[in-house]
Amino acid sequence: MQRLRRTSQVVGVLVGVAWLIVVVTTPVGRWMADRVLVVAGGGETPPGWAAVLLYLSALVVVWKGLALPAATLVAARGERRVRRHASTGSVVSAGLRDVWISAAVAVALGAVTWALLDVAGPWWWMVAGLLGAPVLVGATALAGVTVRAGGRTPVARPVLVERLARLTEQACGRPVPVLEWAGTAGTSATALVTGVGQSGAILLGRTLVEDWSDDEVVVVVAHELAHHVHRDLWRKAALDACLLVAVLGAAHLVATYVGPGLGVEGRQDLLVLPMIGLATWVAWWLLRPVRLAQSRAQERLADRYALDVTGDREAFRAALRRMAAHHFAEERPSTLTQMFFHRHPTVDERLRAAGSQ
Ligand SMILES: [Zn+2]
Repeated sequence: MQRLRRTSQVVGVLVGVAWLIVVVTTPVGRWMADRVLVVAGGGETPPGWAAVLLYLSALVVVWKGLALPAATLVAARGERRVRRHASTGSVVSAGLRDVWISAAVAVALGAVTWALLDVAGPWWWMVAGLLGAPVLVGATALAGVTVRAGGRTPVARPVLVERLARLTEQACGRPVPVLEWAGTAGTSATALVTGVGQSGAILLGRTLVEDWSDDEVVVVVAHELAHHVHRDLWRKAALDACLLVAVLGAAHLVATYVGPGLGVEGRQDLLVLPMIGLATWVAWWLLRPVRLAQSRAQERLADRYALDVTGDREAFRAALRRMAAHHFAEERPSTLTQMFFHRHPTVDERLRAAGSQ
């Protein structure tokens, strides 16, 4: 399942990047821009908003039109190997939902970029980065608020409630809500940390709450609490914000120095949008190992914290094995897979760190 979702995600990105390469390096991008200007712009310079939005939508529609069938095809092939774990139908329906969201996000980001190119000129990337940083931090805080407002029920096993209350008080000096989370189709997380500061909360999947032993739940909650104690979500948002500025700066350099050679006629040319989109996307993916390395370091520290606080190695190992089975975790991922996709160290590594094997 893990691998299947990842494959369709990668297919989506690869198809998108390939499409944008075609747009910026062949006459396709210019041809589309000219058509759009005739239909929506009346030939005006600089292009009006109708032309900009139409151009962005056309680019996104072609991307999605190519990516969804490709991802479905790959999923269908994968299904034959892991029939127990996921159906093509579920991948397609999850894919369709993602299509709407990611298409809307892509058009919105393109529109913001266009506005900033107009307002901030050569400093658009710096302004975009400075605007993006609080958005990233704000989204992290807001995630905690919406999760609490979403009608999630607090965990209600009597003995457990008492132990968890003591644990959160000890770790954070205040109660942190531990909520049961039914999860939505397509997500299979067992435990999650969300929100920052006062909006912080811990979510536990239903199977975990219903089937796992008290000791195992406590050790999992201790791990999630460590993320709050260490302010991991703040750190993640801060790193993401710094990388965002760097990535946008790189995209600006590409558009400035490579763009003219590919026929981009300055910041008021529609063709600058796919160019910036391509450079940003590729650079963001190339920096993914940096972001995931931070995540894995945070997970190692959270594991250590959980062991220190509970002192319960047995429950920790049992919980890890259950989690690995639940997620069909890969036991021996390649180094590259780990660098680009793994937010957690491998189960082997985590068990070893807990002093077993
Ligand atoms: Zn964690």
